[in-house]
Amino acid sequence: MKRILVVEDESAIAFGLQLDLKNEGYDVEIASNGESALRHAQKEAYDLILLDVMLPRKDGYEVCRDLRRVGLKTPIIMLTAKTHEAEKVLGLETGADDYVTKPFSPRELRARIKAALRRTAGDDVPAYRFGDAEVDFKRCELRRAGKPVDLTALEFKLLAAFVTDRVVDNHVVTLRKKIEPDPSKPRYIISVRGMGYRFDG
Ligand code: CA
Repeated sequence: MKRILVVEDESAIAFGLQLDLKNEGYDVEIASNGESALRHAQKEAYDLILLDVMLPRKDGYEVCRDLRRVGLKTPIIMLTAKTHEAEKVLGLETGADDYVTKPFSPRELRARIKAALRRTAGDDVPAYRFGDAEVDFKRCELRRAGKPVDLTALEFKLLAAFVTDRVVDNHVVTLRKKIEPDPSKPRYIISVRGMGYRFDG
């Protein structure tokens, strides 16, 4: 079941969205201000975030910018009452994937949600496994023995950086076997200590 975080301070709209999306088969949680949205989004794994722009404490643009800054890749659809083109552009520049202008039709919103979820499903990165651990890049989640481990967004980013380096190392090993005359003494893909690799063609 796909999980959606709805960030909206007007409870009538929030509950309306929750009801509608639950009927569509989504698991929906609500955050009613910007700070609580940040906490929720960094602690739990959501498949999508519906983010209202006008929020108490931190507005939707700030929340979106903060989430992208800590590396969260979850698709974000901004809900904006403002129809000016500049506002829409600002929404997208802060890292939002899409925007929907209020008042929106539930049907249009559902279509946008489906489209955003489809887009992320396309760039699936396989999970990386070591020991009893599994790094799920898509959900920004670490699981050990199948159970999610509580990591902050920054910890996850750091772990992902180490892990993706390891993935590169593994590919370099196999690539060397394919292109190097003597893979044990590489002459094309040269390791540079503390840096990574250099290609000497
Ligand atoms: Ca609002």
